[in-house]
Amino acid sequence: MTEARRIQLQALVPPTLKVIIAHADELTQLDQAIGDGDHGINMKRGAEKILQELPEICDKPADEALKAMGMALVMSVGGASGPLFGSLLMEMGKSLGPRAIKKEIITECFAAGIDAVKKRGRSDIGQKTMLDVLVPALDVLNNNEAGSDLYTQLKESAAASEAQTIDMIALKGRASYLGERSIGHMDPGARTCGLAIREICNILGAANNG
Ligand code: ADP
Ligand code: MG
Repeated sequence: MTEARRIQLQALVPPTLKVIIAHADELTQLDQAIGDGDHGINMKRGAEKILQELPEICDKPADEALKAMGMALVMSVGGASGPLFGSLLMEMGKSLGPRAIKKEIITECFAAGIDAVKKRGRSDIGQKTMLDVLVPALDVLNNNEAGSDLYTQLKESAAASEAQTIDMIALKGRASYLGERSIGHMDPGARTCGLAIREICNILGAANNG
């Protein structure tokens, strides 16, 4: 792996995982309201596993690094979210292959990752899950015009779409057992995606302006 790629991974991955770890209590509280109260613990365990493996992960080409991070989540997280976030990253890696990291290619990989989540979760947008943040982010990537501020648009989309899950009724996962009583609470997996997208965009946006 080139030194530039290693620096990129080191710049992006640890801060993003640390934001998720720092919000573990909040994510667990969200899951206590509509699930079984383990989402923060699950994500923290998965994030710590990736951090532990990061030195070896950073030695891999980008596609293999994505697959290894996804595999670390699948192996370390017991809840539904482990295989779902794991599928997202593994499929992004598979789709990327040896290609260069460019906006159009990343958009294509993100779309492939989201399709893998849909397939694995038998789920889609509008069901109060992580997909309610991921799919709008993909829409921003697809529709963003050259020259406009992609990172700000992604951050605004993530904040708006995680908030929109509050009024939704859960149709998938444990929260769906609550039926209408799931209304009024933000979906924990959607919140995790919002936190991750905002942190990644903060870092990339700052790098672009620097
Ligand atoms: P578990 O539900 O097994 O306790 P977590 O609490 O870690 O796992 O994760 C719950 C989150 O996973 C939900 O908030 C939701 O965003 C996401 N999720 C659950 N089931 C699905 C599904 N079928 N499709 C997409 N996302 C899902
Ligand atoms: Mg849970």
